[in-house]
Amino acid sequence: MAKIEMTTPIVEMDGDEMTRILWKMIKDELILPYIDLKSEYYDLGLKYRDETNDQVTIDSANATKKYGVAVKCATITPNAARVEEYDLKEMWKSPNGTIRAMLDGTVFRAPILVKGIEPNVKTWEKPITLARHAYGDVYKNVEIAVPGAGKAELVFTGADGKEIRQTIQEFDGPGIIQGIHNKDASIKSFAKACFEYALSTKQDLWFATKDTISKTYDARFREIFDKTFEADYKEKFDKAGIEYFYTLIDDAVARVMKSKGGFIWACKNYDGDVMSDMVSSACGSLAMMTSVLVSPDGIYEYEAAHGTVQRHYYKYLKGEETSTNPVATIFAWTGAMRKRGELDGIQGLIDWADKMEKATLSTIEGGQMTGDLVLITSNKDAKKLNSEDFIKAIRTTFDAM
Ligand code: NAP
Ligand code: MG
Repeated sequence: MAKIEMTTPIVEMDGDEMTRILWKMIKDELILPYIDLKSEYYDLGLKYRDETNDQVTIDSANATKKYGVAVKCATITPNAARVEEYDLKEMWKSPNGTIRAMLDGTVFRAPILVKGIEPNVKTWEKPITLARHAYGDVYKNVEIAVPGAGKAELVFTGADGKEIRQTIQEFDGPGIIQGIHNKDASIKSFAKACFEYALSTKQDLWFATKDTISKTYDARFREIFDKTFEADYKEKFDKAGIEYFYTLIDDAVARVMKSKGGFIWACKNYDGDVMSDMVSSACGSLAMMTSVLVSPDGIYEYEAAHGTVQRHYYKYLKGEETSTNPVATIFAWTGAMRKRGELDGIQGLIDWADKMEKATLSTIEGGQMTGDLVLITSNKDAKKLNSEDFIKAIRTTFDAM
């Protein structure tokens, strides 16, 4: 059979440890036999990041801006132990952090649902995609432990020297105070990325804050979302048959628990931190969670939500058999290829992506899966395969389709 041709290259960011091993297996078994792969390859493995003084990460982000779609393997974020292990020149920053900052992007995470591994919330039939605003609020706070009686004030001094001043509290004894902030520009980027992604995936968008209590701070979030929607997205949403709706965070939580899923839930930084762990743990496994970074101008970088699975890698290096789950990494590739197909009008790539995802899920539903899933599936006939045999089983299913 002729291979699917591509017109624009995809930006390929290779990574570290066990996921680097899976990366090659996935390419050899599931991609190269079917697609005449055009990719601009960047090796974000820690060794090469160190050799290039992390320039390769910056180059890969610039290439993503140029071509619009990237697929990324999990990478090590160095800590003191890694500096020693890899004899690093420096404790390089997290590649994900660097890329996110350069693209001004928002991360969307969604569980991959499969029969036999049902979410704990029985009504969830479709995945809930969670978008977390990754700037400011309590994550960039300034705090004071108030030692005793006194007056706490909030003061803003403008560039022109003008002051705005408000009393926070007249303390009659010890206590605590905290200052937090956000920026209109960052909220606007977040809003645009959410609207873009909703359109791109044809899903409703929910957004919630506590603006009944926080009448200036949280209200600003709501206003920026509303204005951006009215100005740039309302017509597009109508045309796509999808909806944007705003509600209070407590109402959103109650509705989410009774929903069928299949929408995007945009959250402020803290809400997103907490709620993404709730949604992902209710769906079973970190190895079944996809992640995509979307910039406000519609640039996409796909990856798995998990890390490099270090513990499995050390077993692999000792020659022991490993059963690491490649599903989220496979879905990073299918997500990227589908997007490339949509942008370039190549139906073959879209069909390949749809079929490869189906083949992956039906392999699992047929009882062949990796060890992490065997532990949580309700399928009594589940069989544990090593990573390589599982990927080969997916190829067999795909070919039979
Ligand atoms: P991790 O790689 O996500 O793995 C944590 C544990 O989760 C594993 O030991 C394994 O549990 C389980 N797990 C995760 N993915 C799995 C998969 N695909 N199949 C089966 N089991 C899976 O997190 P980590 O060990 O904390 O971090 C390792 C390295 O990854 C770190 O250097 C970190 O900096 C990096 N990291 C990178 C990214 C990224 O690039 N996006 C994200 C997070 C972490 P068992 O051992 O119990 O089997
Ligand atoms: Mg968290």
